[in-house]
Amino acid sequence: MTAAAPDRVRARIRVEGIVQGVGFRPHVHALAHRYGLAGLVGNDTGGVFIEAEGPSRAVDTLVAQLRERPPALAQVDRVRVTSLAPTGSPGFAIVTSVPDGQRRTLVPPDSATCANCVTELFDPTDRRYRYPFVNCTHCGPRYTLITDLPYDRRHTTMAGFGMCPQCAREYTDPADRRFHAQPVCCPQCGPTAVFTDADGGPVAGDPVRTAVRWLRDGAILAVKGLGGYHLAVDAADSAAVARLRQRKRRDAKPFAVMAPDPAAVRRLCEVEPAAAALLEAPAAPIVLLPRHRDPAAREPAAPEPVADEVAPGNQELGVMLPYTPLHHLLARDLGRPFVLTSGNATDEPIAYRDGDARERLAGIADAFLAHDRPVHARADDSVVRVAGGRPLPLRRSRGYAPAPVRVPWRWPRPVLGCGADLKSTVCLGAERRAVLSTHLGDLADPDTLAAHTGAVAHLRLLLRADPAVVACDLHPDYHATRYAHRLADEQGLDLVTVQHHHAHIAACLAEHGHPGPVVGVAFDGTGYGTDGTIWGGELLVADLARFRRAGSLEPVPMPGGDAAVRRPWRMAAGYLYAAYGASPPATAVAARHASSWDAVTALAARGVHAPLTSSAGRLFDAVAALAGVRDEVSYEAQAALELEQRADPAVVDGYPVTVDGTDPLVIRGTDLVRAVVDDLAGGTPPGVVAARFHHGLAAAVVAAVRRVATATGLSTVALSGGVFANRLLLETVVTGLEWHGLRVLTHARVPPGDGGISLGQAAVAGARDRGP
Ligand code: ZN
Ligand code: ZN
Ligand code: FE
Repeated sequence: MTAAAPDRVRARIRVEGIVQGVGFRPHVHALAHRYGLAGLVGNDTGGVFIEAEGPSRAVDTLVAQLRERPPALAQVDRVRVTSLAPTGSPGFAIVTSVPDGQRRTLVPPDSATCANCVTELFDPTDRRYRYPFVNCTHCGPRYTLITDLPYDRRHTTMAGFGMCPQCAREYTDPADRRFHAQPVCCPQCGPTAVFTDADGGPVAGDPVRTAVRWLRDGAILAVKGLGGYHLAVDAADSAAVARLRQRKRRDAKPFAVMAPDPAAVRRLCEVEPAAAALLEAPAAPIVLLPRHRDPAAREPAAPEPVADEVAPGNQELGVMLPYTPLHHLLARDLGRPFVLTSGNATDEPIAYRDGDARERLAGIADAFLAHDRPVHARADDSVVRVAGGRPLPLRRSRGYAPAPVRVPWRWPRPVLGCGADLKSTVCLGAERRAVLSTHLGDLADPDTLAAHTGAVAHLRLLLRADPAVVACDLHPDYHATRYAHRLADEQGLDLVTVQHHHAHIAACLAEHGHPGPVVGVAFDGTGYGTDGTIWGGELLVADLARFRRAGSLEPVPMPGGDAAVRRPWRMAAGYLYAAYGASPPATAVAARHASSWDAVTALAARGVHAPLTSSAGRLFDAVAALAGVRDEVSYEAQAALELEQRADPAVVDGYPVTVDGTDPLVIRGTDLVRAVVDDLAGGTPPGVVAARFHHGLAAAVVAAVRRVATATGLSTVALSGGVFANRLLLETVVTGLEWHGLRVLTHARVPPGDGGISLGQAAVAGARDRGP
């Protein structure tokens, strides 16, 4: 045709990243049509390949569009363009995929039902009207149903469902929004929902409408979701929620609710723009939102009853929007929020296989709303908070995993980061990316340990990479550490141990693609220090490979060791001893625990069974107990969370804190404790004390960081560790550091807590592997 036209060019374009199973080829096809380009597009082992021919400006526009505006679920890591000789052949074709080979393409995360599919779901004239498994190229299950690569129907849990002719037509038509949507299905050919009683006996009637009726009657339902089973109960029904707590053996830890739509969320909570974006994102996480303090802010015409038992004593509520068609049907038919919490007893991993769920949940649920599409990979809901107008992930799981964290360096050999024991994840770093598993839970539980092993196998499969190096915590007694040692022994792999707080800072660096060195502030519960003491309030000068401890909170005795973690009042005793010695002033907390107070103080005094700790989490515990906020906890960080929520937002002054020494520095936490004791003795309300404590500690962190920054000439600071899930502390520290001209790196993609540790371990081991 016009091969002789002067500016006619042909380009080969390679696109890498999450580009398969997300509608990339039809997207390219449509763009080519729009810009009048000839050529072809196809999938191969490396991602998507394109040949585009036409005026050079049109080809450039195509490339720019691929980079800047890919399809909704795609994640474009790299676009490479090389030039070819124009062939002059007309038309633009989608060509057959090149099968197998070493797959370098990535599995997409699961995605919430898109707006088009929701419209179909509620359109009485649509053939998928009220069909609980509607999905398309732009939404639906992915990670949780993929059993192997390449990502084709036969390698998903939809393999057992043959497509009907109509679905097959949609699947093969490049102009259809279900073109190559692997889980495509309809009422004629796809999975079906079923409602059964607790013994598995089917209950007649429409499963969803029956479920809604049971919820209204106060029943606890097990509901099969994307990554496992949930337990559901009407959020307005105090007695039903209390029953769920009792059967799940969960005292106080808040439950999340699913609200029918964004307007319903706004009636419950304050929703800032960043939070609204998170709620409605394809990942559809649980978003922790502040509840309206002023009842008048709620819409009086439509009260959204959420019983106190849902999140007792908590000023925040974890809320998510429906993310599967089944949820949309339930939520719309019920018309109000319902509790939707992991299908497990406390501390166990979420049940996801049907038989296992029947067995484990039979004593908790009154009935089951399930279906016959198997869940292949377990995935708990993700949990996100908003701090400083940005997302702050607390649990990175469904909807995010297994999207990779890209870094600007290479892992010379694949590294497996084995994580920590709480909020465990594992991470495989290979080439220029790291993939974290979903949330696995607490490894003390044997089922979680099995899940840990399964997650490692799954990551290896998805990445087609076998670790040559395993990285783990220094803590010899972590289950994850023992797992790493065993794996290294059995398979002859190199083992790298990484100090816990160095791993926290490295996770933050990896997330930002920053090699360091930085001043790292790692504040968390407890971690094993290089000197054998318990760390947890650390200032490090760190790069990816190494660190030096530049300072810490003042070490104090932790009477009874781990017993003090569950009983913050013991930390109050430890801190009072450290602050005042043998004769502290009278306090309310000592009076409340008079019968055992002296014995506990004696442990601190003698240093017997009272290890020293510089933990920031334990400082929060001590102050929470002193202020009468909480003496004992039933879940991790409960006291700190309640102290943060208690802080009076009108108070902006803080207690003075001394920062002593030069190298290492010591932040005198006992100054804070003495100020708290004095204020309380003078009758200052606990809310004011809580606020002054936060502001005082934040100012001390800023002062200490500035000293380290000045001494080292560093101007970038990384904040990590579970204590930086505390929004008030985080925002105050960031503001202070930035005011002094320092650049601050905080977490926005992986959690600051131990859920991010595996990434940090992999990053450190990779950096040591690269050498200087
Ligand atoms: Zn869709
Ligand atoms: Zn069909
Ligand atoms: Fe930690």
